[in-house]
Amino acid sequence: MPTPASLNRRRFAQLSVLAMAATRLPAQTPPMKRVGYAAVGLGRICDIFMRGCAQSEHAKVTGLVTGHPAEKGPKYGGLYNVPEKSIYTYQTFDRIRDNSEIEAVYIGLPNSMHCEYTVRAAEAGKHVLCEKPMAISSAECRRMIDACRHANVRLMIAYRIHYDPTFARMAALIRSGAIGQVQACDGAFPGYERKGEWRLDRKLAGGGSLFDLGVYPINTIRFLLGEDPIAYTGMVATRDMSGRFAEMEQSVVWTMKFPSGILADCSSSYGQSGENFVRVRGDKGFLQVTAAYSYEGLHLTGKTLQGDIDEPAPGKLPFQFVLEADHFAGCVRNHSTPRTPGEEGLKDLIAIESIYKAAGAPLA
Ligand code: NAD
Repeated sequence: MPTPASLNRRRFAQLSVLAMAATRLPAQTPPMKRVGYAAVGLGRICDIFMRGCAQSEHAKVTGLVTGHPAEKGPKYGGLYNVPEKSIYTYQTFDRIRDNSEIEAVYIGLPNSMHCEYTVRAAEAGKHVLCEKPMAISSAECRRMIDACRHANVRLMIAYRIHYDPTFARMAALIRSGAIGQVQACDGAFPGYERKGEWRLDRKLAGGGSLFDLGVYPINTIRFLLGEDPIAYTGMVATRDMSGRFAEMEQSVVWTMKFPSGILADCSSSYGQSGENFVRVRGDKGFLQVTAAYSYEGLHLTGKTLQGDIDEPAPGKLPFQFVLEADHFAGCVRNHSTPRTPGEEGLKDLIAIESIYKAAGAPLA
């Protein structure tokens, strides 16, 4: 007899296969033909992305870009078989133009550096997979889109949830009418940042937690609804007066209204503990994902017209990064547009700017 856990694993595997089929790649690409990424930044997220590439059947790490080549060059070069000639610094970055092993870059730098390195990569003729938030202003997003279009290279923003089977399942249930007509959403991403982190430095981060954490509920709710917000309210506040929040607010709450009339109620913070989640409420039921923006442990629950839902996701870190790296590899090979192109990142930056404006804390 199959158990609920084994059924979940099977459904999850089927959804992963469907996600891969959408990339129009063969089940496995021979190692020589896999899309070669240069990881740029070599901090925490690059480390995870490279682990994802190592598990991928379509992508590989072929270049490294770091400010610490003596320390990180041998470490990651050894792990991923990247020769010394393919290790670059920020000063020598533009020379990736002459390296045919590097077809794409993965940008895992502080937010304010995304625009510069996207434009430079495009000018070097390389495709760009850029971390979220896409940039620190909508003007920068437009510059990045234009640069990639002009250079005829693909641009994708690394929104993991768009490639995750749990969210594919949630979106399909909502679209099937399983919770009736959608009325409202809520989502939160509380977190904690220590003094000295670049995330608390406005020049590097662009603003507060809304950029790094709040972008998840914004983007996820837009993804689940297939609509973009038309009106916003917002409030920001700081209770920790230790100096940690000298350059930005500690917490933000905001609401969004969508063209259909659906309302969303969200929050993010760099000084709160608690679970991150997203919930969609219909007039006949609801669905929610807890640990929604975590790397693993996502859990879909809810009440639908077909009965209760209780589906813990079996995927383990770095499975979302494998799916993401593979999707973009497919776009590079097939000259197709990613499911999360630069225009997706731009929409979220417009939302972030609108929320800060509504909160009376405009960015510029
Ligand atoms: P990190 O601090 O771990 O890494 C940043 C890297 O950039 C470091 O290796 C650092 O040496 C390098 N760097 C180069 N110039 C720098 C400068 N002037 N100041 C500071 N660092 C500099 O950060 P991270 O957590 O890897 O985040 C990097 C990007 O990835 C951010 O845009 C972040 O929002 C995004 N991110 C995405 C996810 C996701 O799940 N998709 C998760 C975490 C972070």
